[in-house]
Amino acid sequence: MRFVAEPIARLVEEFGKLPGIGPKSAQRLTHHVLRSSDEEARSLAEAILALKEKIKLCSICFNTTDCDPCRICQDMGRDHSRICVVEKPSDILPLEHTGKYNGVYHVLHGTISPAQGIGPDDLKINELLARLQNGSVTEVIIATNPNVESETVAMYLQRIIKPFNIHVTRLARGLPFGAELEYADDLTLGQALENRREF
Ligand SMILES: [Zn+2]
Repeated sequence: MRFVAEPIARLVEEFGKLPGIGPKSAQRLTHHVLRSSDEEARSLAEAILALKEKIKLCSICFNTTDCDPCRICQDMGRDHSRICVVEKPSDILPLEHTGKYNGVYHVLHGTISPAQGIGPDDLKINELLARLQNGSVTEVIIATNPNVESETVAMYLQRIIKPFNIHVTRLARGLPFGAELEYADDLTLGQALENRREF
């Protein structure tokens, strides 16, 4: 790429690091930015910086947020006696889109993976248990992805939450095994949520 101007090569390389962006798309995006006005390019760059500067984790549910507690935790119209446990912040949006859930959330930030050396202490599990201490929570809905690793975390949570005398439910198997919550359609996910069952 010696014949390519360095700033172009650099942006192509950066775009190429993004998920789902191959070399061709990286080129296309770079040339799009090149054709954009200075103002548009600056706006894009500033949006990326602002995201990193202003977004933090909610101190209650660990969802990504620009205010703390996050808008969901702050919302008194929601049912705070139900906590839906998900693996990552991006799992919340599809659950919200189903329109079938009015409780609050807890984001684990990962899943148990012995192969990668990730154990329960690396996830926000102690923080979840702390939320269950005061007795106001009546149901924990485990909405981890239907795959082998997430199954491990679901079983683990079920075991440690049971002593709290709280209903532990999980999404019904309307979701195909190996699917990602993030990419499930509203209908399938909504049904899985409605048909959740006791562990
Ligand atoms: Zn929150």
